[in-house]
Amino acid sequence: MYDPKSLKAEEFIDHAEILETLEYAEQNKNNKELIEQILEKAKPRKTANGTVCSGLTHREASVLLACEDPELIEKMYTLAEEIKLAFYGNRIVMFAPLYLSNYCVNQCVYCPYHHQNKHIPRKKLTQEEVAQEVIALQDMGHKRLAIEAGEDPVNNPIEYILECIKTIYSIKHKNGAIRRVNVNIAATTVENYRKLKEAGIGTYILFQETYHKESYEKLHPAGPKHNYAYHTEAMDRAMDGGIDDVGLGVLFGLELYKYEFAGLLMHAEHLEAVHGVGPHTISVPRVKRADDIDPSTFDNGIDDDTFAKIIACIRIAVPYTGMIISTRESEACRNRVLGLGISQISGGSRTSVGGYAGYSSDERPHDTEQFDVSDQRSLNEVVKWLMELGYIPSFCTACYREGRTGDRFMSLCKNGQILNCCHPNALMTLKEFLEDYATEDTKEIGEKLIADELKKIPNEKVQKLATEYIENIHEGKRDFRF
Ligand code: SAM
Repeated sequence: MYDPKSLKAEEFIDHAEILETLEYAEQNKNNKELIEQILEKAKPRKTANGTVCSGLTHREASVLLACEDPELIEKMYTLAEEIKLAFYGNRIVMFAPLYLSNYCVNQCVYCPYHHQNKHIPRKKLTQEEVAQEVIALQDMGHKRLAIEAGEDPVNNPIEYILECIKTIYSIKHKNGAIRRVNVNIAATTVENYRKLKEAGIGTYILFQETYHKESYEKLHPAGPKHNYAYHTEAMDRAMDGGIDDVGLGVLFGLELYKYEFAGLLMHAEHLEAVHGVGPHTISVPRVKRADDIDPSTFDNGIDDDTFAKIIACIRIAVPYTGMIISTRESEACRNRVLGLGISQISGGSRTSVGGYAGYSSDERPHDTEQFDVSDQRSLNEVVKWLMELGYIPSFCTACYREGRTGDRFMSLCKNGQILNCCHPNALMTLKEFLEDYATEDTKEIGEKLIADELKKIPNEKVQKLATEYIENIHEGKRDFRF
């Protein structure tokens, strides 16, 4: 029986409820009146406390996803963009993954790190190597990382992850610093989540892979990850351990996307119902080619149009949740979905263990790569491209460092307050990037963009202060934030 407040995976991701939702969506996919009503409900509204959005239930959002009418789909895209602009403006937050270890005891059938893959080298960074990787990432201009590791209690115990986080935060190379470490490691215990929280992590990210229990068990035939309930209930344990920013995701291609979409939104409803705060981010990875993995062996691959529609529908359904897209996707695909609600992208990524240090921007090691990277541009190129498209690349990490996490972040976001400090913070961190890491042509575009954007800060005092801070950055000072 569907109960978003239940702490049992099979009850808050209720299979029967998903099937009924899909049936309801199918029956109503041509119900123009209902679809117009749903779109109307989801529109941003101005109130005394700023702009607000109501979001949608998994059922309502599933009707939008099922709709095939090109005119209505166009309306969805326009609304998704409107919502994104209302809460995230034209800023895009930048990050990079850092692979610590590919030792893994699981047997995820889509992942080349699976335990039975005997021909890939297994590698785990030493602390010295972590430091080298971090220096290389800082030299590119990164301030925010997502650390990645396989699951292996012997080779990658929590103590190893904690030690790596400590090393990452301790490195200050030239003007570089990693100011936020997000963590993408296997489901673990409340006690371990508490340790991660104490280590100062940003978001805890864990992809569900699939919400379909039966498929989940087949796709994870052995190892600790086989346990569907333990995996699905991980975010509740993370929140019990004090982590209030959690990131959800589905690996699209494994199961029917409509099923996954409903499950994902039910998971978000569950977090909101139980913990009073929804997911901080949602990621939308698609299965990619990798060492012994051929994506065409999975029956449920989705084309770019469907992918775009999923992203727009997520944006409309959970308006305050950040949405992440990685370099799994090509430049063209990323370009398209940026306008539909994506708020965070990676740049200059390497998905292998030790893939950054010692390699030039056009050289990449493949031996321990987790998946093929489609967008192979350098961070400088991605930053320049974003600015040419009219976005502000942001290296901001201020919210989490100012304690604006969990429901504090959400309530600020909900009444539009985030917008008052995010915009100048984005400009200041972009200025740092331009001063320290950008090529001349990127710098030229960036300086003009900053000058134009500064004028748009409505609050005069903030505008004056931000202008002053940006001058200070030019003079060599760093790390200002509102
Ligand atoms: N090992 C951790 C776990 O099991 O959750 C997390 C880290 S894993 C390095 C990060 C994510 O990469 C996985 O959750 C999965 O969704 C994704 N992934 C694995 N194989 C992939 C592939 N062939 N193509 C695209 N993404 C893949």
